[in-house]
Amino acid sequence: MIHFVGAGPGAEDLITIRGAKLLEQADVVVYAGSLVNPAHLTRTKAGCAVYNSASMSLEQVMEVMLPAARAGKEVVRLHTGDPSIYGAIREQMDILEAHGVTYDVCPGVSSFCGAAAALRAEYTLPDVSQTVILSRMAGRTPVPERESIRALAAHGSTMVLFLSAGMLGKLAEELIAGGYAPETPAAIVYKATWPEEKVFRTTIAGLEQTAQENGIRQTALITVGGFLGGQYERSKLYDPSFAHGCREADT
Ligand code: SAH
Repeated sequence: MIHFVGAGPGAEDLITIRGAKLLEQADVVVYAGSLVNPAHLTRTKAGCAVYNSASMSLEQVMEVMLPAARAGKEVVRLHTGDPSIYGAIREQMDILEAHGVTYDVCPGVSSFCGAAAALRAEYTLPDVSQTVILSRMAGRTPVPERESIRALAAHGSTMVLFLSAGMLGKLAEELIAGGYAPETPAAIVYKATWPEEKVFRTTIAGLEQTAQENGIRQTALITVGGFLGGQYERSKLYDPSFAHGCREADT
């Protein structure tokens, strides 16, 4: 059996209980070494074979996982954050399907949630934005044109950008071309929830300089939007004059 497990954003205790148990039981672990906190590996039992996939191709990962699964071993494929976000798990699952190997997925806390915690922010504020767009700049992996930053920025929603910390000048240009004002609040969250976490609050216009001054090039998320500002409406849910299924309105 192969388990795709989300390791969470970094902190050792932000893996799920299920994910931690799967690691404890694993005979083989293949972890995404570029971003998974190696401290998670201390949960593995003696004799567990551990592979860092950072230097491996998809084929090499399969050469490790397929025979292990066929031999009845418990295999954990450990991905950073939640495996469904830029995890490259679909291509692995399709190969396992083709070989008739069973697998399941254990979700994890995505880094975009870790970043909100680091910012002590709420992405969905009434009267500001009720939508979170998770996206990235096109890099070596292309992004469909209809999902260009410029096109997505036109919504004025909360945006969280992955895999883009090395191209902040271009990112800011695209956000502004899409309709955000240059002074829109923005933040860079580096290594959210890791001991070395850093938070930089700036504006869209200030993103590139802020990153340069602080030496941030990777392992960072960029968050953008009015949710980082001071203006919003109170929620209806906790408004005394608002009745709902669990509470009567104060008169
Ligand atoms: N599956 C992961 C994302 C993998 S893509 C998740 O759910 O979080 C890798 C990108 O995620 C990095 O380039 C960076 O933009 C972001 N990232 C991952 N962990 C991070 C962290 N702890 N803090 C800030 N950004 C992080």
